[in-house]
Amino acid sequence: MKNPKVLIIYTGGTIGMINDPETGALKPFDFEHLYNSVPELKQFNYKLEAHSMKNPIDSSEMNPSIWADIAKTIFDNYSEYDGFVILHGSDTMAYTASALSFMLSGIKKPVILTGSQLPIGQIRTDGKENLITAVEIAGKLDPAGEPMVQEVAIYFEFQLHRGNRTSKQSTSNFDAFISYNYPLLAEAGVTIEFNHAALLRKGFQKLEVFSNFNTKVGLIKLYPGMPVAAYAPIFDLSKTEGVVIESFGNGNTFSSTELENKIDSYIKAGGLVLNITQCGKGSVAHGKYETSMMFVRLGVIGGYDITSEAAITKMMYVLGRFSDRDERKQHLQKNICGEFTQI
Ligand code: ASP
Repeated sequence: MKNPKVLIIYTGGTIGMINDPETGALKPFDFEHLYNSVPELKQFNYKLEAHSMKNPIDSSEMNPSIWADIAKTIFDNYSEYDGFVILHGSDTMAYTASALSFMLSGIKKPVILTGSQLPIGQIRTDGKENLITAVEIAGKLDPAGEPMVQEVAIYFEFQLHRGNRTSKQSTSNFDAFISYNYPLLAEAGVTIEFNHAALLRKGFQKLEVFSNFNTKVGLIKLYPGMPVAAYAPIFDLSKTEGVVIESFGNGNTFSSTELENKIDSYIKAGGLVLNITQCGKGSVAHGKYETSMMFVRLGVIGGYDITSEAAITKMMYVLGRFSDRDERKQHLQKNICGEFTQI
């Protein structure tokens, strides 16, 4: 069996940061530093190659044009490598993982995002284990000789998550990520145990990259007493073509004629509204409570248990890819790459 070939793509984040000697603040360092800091990687029987994005960033600076660059790098190198590891800051990693899951349609090879809470040069760093195991997973085959992971995933602190199911849950603990509504894809202990039933399998597919995201997407989080008028401008088709509402519990809202009228005229003018829950765990269930009936009447789409990170990036993808309203609606309702569980 040939040695697996893995491409490591460095985008920035704490994993490759050092302290600025003048200010003491953490800033991105060049990729060579990172690679030299983990000599253990040389012991793998894998063929590893590294590619650094032109300007490594703190992931708070992440945006759809960098997502497009990452997707293109994977596409251009797809036939040459067995898997890809993306080193990325944890702050927006769940957004990038979600965005890539929609951009890389038909992906059949592992794309594993990882990073760390402590810089790799620090003695207690979590970065080494994260990087080493992410690389190992990126080269793993299943018993049929196919790539074990055939989707975009996040590896952090011994856990492999479906990328578009994750949220960052902690700035202080090493287990920075959680998938509230989907089981782990794998757990790394003495051995790496894969949860075969949870891994995405889609049959024969050809990789296609679609990165022309439309960022005219609004996000509103409901709260008791909110001044609806302050949020009304979001329902303006010249500013947004889709709005995600983070509602209460199973997709519920307070009664408000003002909000109802705004959503109604927005949808009638061609806008799309996706209702997701602000609870981590659980799902929107339109019609379960009277307080979600307003959304049903207006034609708001229920997002089930999708995360906000996946909802926002899915909206950007759907708006960018389709221009017909019904087609957009149909794709928002569709489970594209395991991003929600329909109830
Ligand atoms: N601020 C950093 C970033 O997201 C934190 C991290 O790397 O985990 O880029």
